[in-house]
Amino acid sequence: MTGRLEIPGPLGQRPHRVRASFVRGVRPLAGLAGEVSVRALDLFLSLAGLALLSPFLLARAAAGRLRTGRFLDREPRVGRFRTPFDELAFAGPMPGRRLAVLLNVLRGDMAFAGPRSLAPGEASTVAPSAAIRFQVRPGLVSPHLLRKRTGVAYESEADLDSEFVYGETLKKDVGLLARSVPAALLGSAPPRDAPPEFRLFGIRIVNTTMDEALEWIVGRAGASRPSTMAFVNPDCLNIAWRDPAYREVLLGAERVLPDGIGIHLACRMLGTPLMANVNGTDLFPRLCQRIAGTGLSIYLFGARPGIAAAAGEAMQRLHPELKVAGARDGFFPLGETPRVIQEINASGASILLVAMGAPRQEQWLASHAAELKPPVRMGVGGLFDFYSGRIPRAPVWMREIGLEWVYRLLQEPGRMWRRYIIGNPLFLFRVWKESRKAGSAEAG
Ligand code: UDP
Repeated sequence: MTGRLEIPGPLGQRPHRVRASFVRGVRPLAGLAGEVSVRALDLFLSLAGLALLSPFLLARAAAGRLRTGRFLDREPRVGRFRTPFDELAFAGPMPGRRLAVLLNVLRGDMAFAGPRSLAPGEASTVAPSAAIRFQVRPGLVSPHLLRKRTGVAYESEADLDSEFVYGETLKKDVGLLARSVPAALLGSAPPRDAPPEFRLFGIRIVNTTMDEALEWIVGRAGASRPSTMAFVNPDCLNIAWRDPAYREVLLGAERVLPDGIGIHLACRMLGTPLMANVNGTDLFPRLCQRIAGTGLSIYLFGARPGIAAAAGEAMQRLHPELKVAGARDGFFPLGETPRVIQEINASGASILLVAMGAPRQEQWLASHAAELKPPVRMGVGGLFDFYSGRIPRAPVWMREIGLEWVYRLLQEPGRMWRRYIIGNPLFLFRVWKESRKAGSAEAG
């Protein structure tokens, strides 16, 4: 089979155009030239790393030998084409254990970029649909691990690995490696013992995954009693710090979810592992996908005239079975509020999304909680602007390394500088002060 195939990209992204050769079970995309260039990069980087670090590596190997009687530990792994190999680590618990994997890269067992290496037990459970991962060498940096570090690994590991394999090029490998540096600095290791919730400035934030958050919404959308959700980023928490009314509203919400890298950094300062960055902008398209064809419907309320409706139409193009019960803008005279509420209620929507910016949207929802009928209500910020196409969203690579806010700042410097240049450091300073206070209270 020749020619090119379209592989659907993750939500909101362009599909990938790839060579059809992988259909025959041949190594996808790269072709011989691509294959050679990727391997050449691995050889060059591993040799350069080994040469530059040689004094440390020799000392490390010798120290390991003195401590344990051997230079290297070996971990059985399954490599490319399911060939078994031993992943190397320097023996002994001292720092630098993992650097021995440079030898694996040099030998060709592993690559710098690629799906995570698997133990034989785990490899035997890989579904046939995900077996494409074995067409390439396991990597030191995987696309899934990169996104996990910044809390944006919403797709399954198998999906991200397949996407990597189908689309691999030398340029993409270099990009993945380059992104892994800031992601490691800004993000954190994937959480192990994450608590189900944590507090920032006294506000309880649910620590969960995107999938669980979606299931929760779907469950509540069918319930008779109303549920209100909010997303908080550092700017929201700064507002809550100075605005007691907004703070009360957040305290009264049934669920508050963490939005953005700022919350991730705060969690790092507090020593709290964060499960995921469950922000409204990433949740919205997934919610539309999840409820399409279920009978549940959404009402999109907010943003400039025509924008909410355009965002709904964009989602319906992706998911034709999605029910959009109604849409309207968020600019109306105060006197029209009863009519707006009536419109929303008459639509029969199960989920109401209000996009008027924080704290206006949360306060509007709280003041009209008793009059509103949709079982689930949530404030979602400016996301209709993104999905209607009015404002472009930051590219995926910027989101992966936790720098979406830089993109927003460059888009609207006049409006955003206060929020990000002053607000972000101020927020982190407040978190640091709070953590010290909590630390000394514990000690005392
Ligand atoms: N907005 C609105 N009514 C208003 C003020 C703002 O509908 O009275 C909309 C605005 O058009 C934008 C959203 O609210 O779509 C807020 O955007 P912003 O970027 O401030 O929200 P964020 O996501 O940063 O909270």
